[in-house]
Amino acid sequence: MSMRVTFLGTSGAVPTTQRNPTAIYCQREGDGFLFDCGEGTQRQMMRFGTGFSVDHIFVTHTHGDHVLGIPGLVQTMDFNERDAALAIHCPPGERSLVENLVSATGARPSFPVRVHEVSAGDVALSRDEYEIRAFDVEHRTTAVGYALVEDDRKGRFDREHAEELGVPVGPKFSALHDGNAVELDDGTVVTPDQVVGDPRPGRRVVYTGDTTPVDATVEAAADADLLVHDATFAEDRRDRAGQTGHSTAKQAGRIAQRAGAKRLALTHISSRYANDVELHRTEARESFDGELLIPDDGDTVEIPYPDGE
Ligand SMILES: [Zn+2]
Ligand SMILES: [Zn+2]
Repeated sequence: MSMRVTFLGTSGAVPTTQRNPTAIYCQREGDGFLFDCGEGTQRQMMRFGTGFSVDHIFVTHTHGDHVLGIPGLVQTMDFNERDAALAIHCPPGERSLVENLVSATGARPSFPVRVHEVSAGDVALSRDEYEIRAFDVEHRTTAVGYALVEDDRKGRFDREHAEELGVPVGPKFSALHDGNAVELDDGTVVTPDQVVGDPRPGRRVVYTGDTTPVDATVEAAADADLLVHDATFAEDRRDRAGQTGHSTAKQAGRIAQRAGAKRLALTHISSRYANDVELHRTEARESFDGELLIPDDGDTVEIPYPDGE
């Protein structure tokens, strides 16, 4: 199952010529999701080739730089004669604001748009092999982060050993792989633990939205394959980060390190640093040993399984 994340917008509250307001597109096999939808997100989707097949938008909070792309995107979906429903998830208390954005011009789209409020701890979306959960962050308004968490995968099936034990190729193989014992023609019973390895961990991608450094992120991002964290400022504006409910690159690095995240992507970069992220890079490296990314708009990262398969 492929999984990739495309950074559609990486600016702070004020866009620059290089960075669009916040939006992150995540594609997991056939499913596409948007996390936040800043102004101009639809054009970024066109530029960077993600397509519009998005059925769920996850809004971290309703500051303009995270939601002002919703009216335009919904209008274009409507022009494209979309008829599939669109779900928009948002923090508690923000439903009517998001609904107003959807019908900002007075026209309702002809496809259904459903707005759901999600609180920290809620599962916003549950699919066969993964969930998207909300977790607590701390900003100057009601805000949540989101974690896409895959289930463990079945252990590896030792086909050779199964054949040695006399299991015939066919349905008994899948029965064993699914965790059921099987009886052979001679009456021998073969149990799954003889031929199936330990469950293999799924992947975890975590996005904080705007936030100060908080313990809840450490928990949500435990062993994450990718943590996308607010790094609006560098340490030279640490006070400003605290006052505005944001993080510095160093603080984000520390959170990622505590969580044991494999990769950290710093985003929501203030326009003050738009053309020079060296401070961010140096400071985050001081606290984080894993792979550090400071994506530009349009950058895409593949998320492989932890065991490489
Ligand atoms: Zn913001
Ligand atoms: Zn904000």
